[in-house]
Amino acid sequence: MTDFDSDLFLPDDFDIAPVRLTVDLGALADNFREMTRRSGSARTAAVVKADAYGLGLEDCGTALYEAGARDFFVAVVQEGVTLRTYAPDARIYVLSGVWSGQEGLFYEHGLVPVLASEEQLAFWMSVTAEHGDHPCALQVDTGFNRLGLPLEEAIAFADDVSRPASFSPVLVLSHLHSGDTPSSPLNRQQRESFQRIAEAFEGIETSLAASAGIFLGPEYHFDLTRPGIALYGGEAVVAAPNPMKPVAKAEARIIQIRDAKKGETVSYGGTYQLARDSRLAIVSVGYADGYLRSLSGSGVPLRQTVKDGAFGFAAGRKVPVIGRITMDLTIFDVTDIPEKEIRTGDYVELFGENIALDDVARAAGTIGYELLTSLGLRHERRYIYPDE
Ligand SMILES: *Cc1c(COP(=O)(O)O)cnc(C)c1O
Repeated sequence: MTDFDSDLFLPDDFDIAPVRLTVDLGALADNFREMTRRSGSARTAAVVKADAYGLGLEDCGTALYEAGARDFFVAVVQEGVTLRTYAPDARIYVLSGVWSGQEGLFYEHGLVPVLASEEQLAFWMSVTAEHGDHPCALQVDTGFNRLGLPLEEAIAFADDVSRPASFSPVLVLSHLHSGDTPSSPLNRQQRESFQRIAEAFEGIETSLAASAGIFLGPEYHFDLTRPGIALYGGEAVVAAPNPMKPVAKAEARIIQIRDAKKGETVSYGGTYQLARDSRLAIVSVGYADGYLRSLSGSGVPLRQTVKDGAFGFAAGRKVPVIGRITMDLTIFDVTDIPEKEIRTGDYVELFGENIALDDVARAAGTIGYELLTSLGLRHERRYIYPDE
């Protein structure tokens, strides 16, 4: 009874994991190079906030560093401290800025706060007055109404001769709110506002474009571009072909295949009624793994009118989710797959090469960003390194 070879039964065995995620670091590096190419004469940073969009800061950060990235953006200071280990001589910007009590971490780990408000700006000036100069960046709001100094205040500050000499921003940046919609006239408005900032802060590097902004063209690139989602293979521009390579593949294992009769219902609430005798694959993934319940399509209240949920990919075919997705389990209709071609223990691809991340996101009424950053902690992960 006690003689099991425990190695075989470790829950972290990728080959038998209920849910597994493969991250192709070669594709990530290729996407970084592609963003660099499309950024033209601008330098290209890598945005690695939220654990590198859910794919792992350590491995993704290292791969991006090895692909040549020397500027990184994280959201919060702790991410910067972690990244510092893997990107020893890179410039690491912290997008949420700094508040009292954190300043030591910025000095100690050489992190650059992106000052987000007049309050943060005043705080940082008092910090540098006391502890000596340390690089910072300034965020300017050009219409997002999220973080950043208001435009006119920023321009007044640029002209303020009483600004202490020991205070030296190395970058001014702003963020587009509608870059994913190239036809929006608001992009041009934001660019023109940012152009005024660039002129006011002459001699200091400038940055406006995230992934979507890179696709808008050279007049949006300024000195430094800041792609995130495109590096991870996601769609940056709405309703346009996505030229990036897929980086993440999520798969889940079939626990059981069962026959069910025409007229029977499937899963909680009995919301899905079978229109034919069917074979159902019960798959070990659910909303606790980030396979969102809203991917159930018509199986979820409020989405009664939306017929289709997500599709998975098994035995060379797309297979639909049917009925409600539950915490740990999802049911796919595999009736159209010949019986011999699909078995218990096989994996269903949830997204990856065959099922685009953003198609799945759309089925849930969300975006690829949210799917990736919702993956949770239960899956096993394997990295494919560029030289493999
Ligand atoms: C998240 C973020 C980015 C990266 O955006 P993507 O759309 O993922 O390329 C760039 N800049 C700022 C300020 C951000 O918050």
